[in-house]
Amino acid sequence: MLTIGSHLSSSKGFTAMAQDAVKINANTFQFFTRNPQGGHAKDIDLSDVQKFLNLAQKNHFQKFVAHAPYTLNPCSDKLQTREFAELVFKDDLKRMEYLPHNYYNFHPGSHVGQGVQRGIEMITDLLNKILTPDQTTTVLLETMSGKGSEIGSRFEELRQIIDNVNLKEKIGVCLDTCHVYSAGYDIVNDLDNVLFQFDEIIGLEKLKAVHLNDSKTPFASKKDRHEQIGKGSLGLDGIIRFINHPKLKHLPFILETPNDLQGWAAEIKLLKNNFQP
Ligand code: FE
Ligand code: FE
Ligand code: ZN
Repeated sequence: MLTIGSHLSSSKGFTAMAQDAVKINANTFQFFTRNPQGGHAKDIDLSDVQKFLNLAQKNHFQKFVAHAPYTLNPCSDKLQTREFAELVFKDDLKRMEYLPHNYYNFHPGSHVGQGVQRGIEMITDLLNKILTPDQTTTVLLETMSGKGSEIGSRFEELRQIIDNVNLKEKIGVCLDTCHVYSAGYDIVNDLDNVLFQFDEIIGLEKLKAVHLNDSKTPFASKKDRHEQIGKGSLGLDGIIRFINHPKLKHLPFILETPNDLQGWAAEIKLLKNNFQP
C-alpha cells in the first residue's frame, strides 16, 4: 500500500482536513501548525480532535506530518528570533501530544553568516532544550536545497545535528525530493548511490518521511521551487522509481506541489497507479 497525501490547509481544523484528505484519496497529509510566516496558533478544540481521530481510524490514516512555520529559525543572529523559535517549538510539541505518535517537521535553520558550525550548535542547543523523554512525537529535520545560508543541504550537517542531540530517538529526517535534487544529490540518475550515502552518513533508519515534489529548477541549482509531479527537472519516471524503491516504498509521501485539491487527487491517482505493492 502506498502511503500518500498532500499539504492541506488547517484553517478549518483537523476534522475538515481529514475530510479533504478522504476527498483526494489520501491516507496521510501535512499541515502548518500555524501561519507559515509565524504568529499565533488556534487553541486546540478537543471535540474537533476527537472527530479527527475517529475519521483517521475509520479511513486507515497513517502518521501525519505537522510542519513548523518558515520563520522558525533556531540559528538566527537575533536573540528575539531564537526566542520565538523556542516558544513556537515548545508550544507546537505540547499541542502535538493531543494527537500522539505523529511527526513534526522543521527547517533546521539559516545561519545568516555566522557559519555552519555555529548554526549547528544553536540548532542542537534548542533541540536539547525542548525535546523531552516522554514526548510521543518524532521531530524531523528537513533536507534543504542550500539556498542562502540554509543548514541541512548536506547529509553530513544533519548527521552532526543528530550526533549532538541527547534524545536521538526523538529525531528523524524528512527527505524533500526537490530540495535534495537542487542540493546536488542525483536521485534521478543515481538513486542507489544517494541512498547508500544517506545510509552511511545518517542511517536509513532515521528516514521517516518524504516530501514528494518535482522541481522547477535544474539539478544542483541550490534553488527551492517546487513543481507538479512529472512537469519538472526530476520527471515522472524518476519519481515513479523513487516511490517504488525497496528502501523507500514503505515511507509516507507528502506532495507539496503547486496544486489545488483536484490537482493533488490527480497526482495521488497517478502515483498509486504506478506503485507496485
Ligand atoms: Fe518544508
Ligand atoms: Fe519540503
Ligand atoms: Zn521547498
